[in-house]
Amino acid sequence: MNRECNKKPVLIVGSIGLDDIETPFGIVKGVLGGAACYSSTAASIFTDVRMIGVVGEDFPTEHIEFFNNRDIDTRGVARIPGETFRWSGYYEYDMNQAHTRSTDLNVLENFNPIIPDVFKDTEYIFLANIHPELQLAVLDQLTAPKFIVADTMNFWLDSCRDKVIEVFKRVNAVTINDAEARQLCNTPSLVKAGRQILELGPEMVVIKKGEHGAVMMTADNYFVAPSFPLEEVKDPTGAGDTFAGGMLGYIARIDDINENNLRKAVIYGSVLASYTVEDFSLNRLAVLEPGEVICRFAEMRRMTFVNE
Ligand code: AMP
Repeated sequence: MNRECNKKPVLIVGSIGLDDIETPFGIVKGVLGGAACYSSTAASIFTDVRMIGVVGEDFPTEHIEFFNNRDIDTRGVARIPGETFRWSGYYEYDMNQAHTRSTDLNVLENFNPIIPDVFKDTEYIFLANIHPELQLAVLDQLTAPKFIVADTMNFWLDSCRDKVIEVFKRVNAVTINDAEARQLCNTPSLVKAGRQILELGPEMVVIKKGEHGAVMMTADNYFVAPSFPLEEVKDPTGAGDTFAGGMLGYIARIDDINENNLRKAVIYGSVLASYTVEDFSLNRLAVLEPGEVICRFAEMRRMTFVNE
């Protein structure tokens, strides 16, 4: 984690929600969740974060205080009449597959994201999982974007695939999970899917494969990052968002985009995701120390390095 002095902030838009989650290791209800929450918390390990989203009147203020206490600026988080976004899901022993029980968009349905003027010139942007129209509305307000990453999920591919594609055409990098890449590109081959997504315009695509790690593809390179081997995974919710937030947070911290730094960013993303899944909601991420991240990054390097 070098070059602290040059670090640039990141702007993140995505869902902010209250989740009900069931895994073989427990059940939690109404806990902090949402793509923007996981990704902002992960990015805040590396740099300052500007969060854009919406919550309802029922959203506990302690969560906003949690963000503010870790240099996540919530001036772009609107509180409007109505209920907060809610997602309910469960996992079986194969925790790579989330099963959605219900998605209640609530205040997300009529949200019009307004980026505060002081955030408009942010260079590093993460369009986390949210309605693609909202991702586009954020893109339209940016004045100096340098590196934009976008994510999505099957819910939006089912309901507004064309809009998701419109978003992907306007960004530098796409993060997407394996099942969603296959769905979007209508092919069982992740290599073909990656190529198809690159053809839309982004210079880089990262396909997340849960416990099997992630692959980063660019026009000329293919890089594989394992997931950190854990004996106990309690709740995989938010792993993908954590990965992407950590990856972009690292890129913004070093503010120097090249192949090696992008590879390091992918490893950092994988390291941070490995902490999220150790406990429910953001419980583990909330107490994560930078020193732990550095140690696990070193272990990941050792695990994948081989002498000639
Ligand atoms: P992940 O496990 O990284 O894919 O993200 C899980 C988070 O995504 C949960 O905390 C949910 O609140 C959030 N989520 C679930 N469905 C949606 C959706 N349709 N749009 C935006 N966020 C969602």
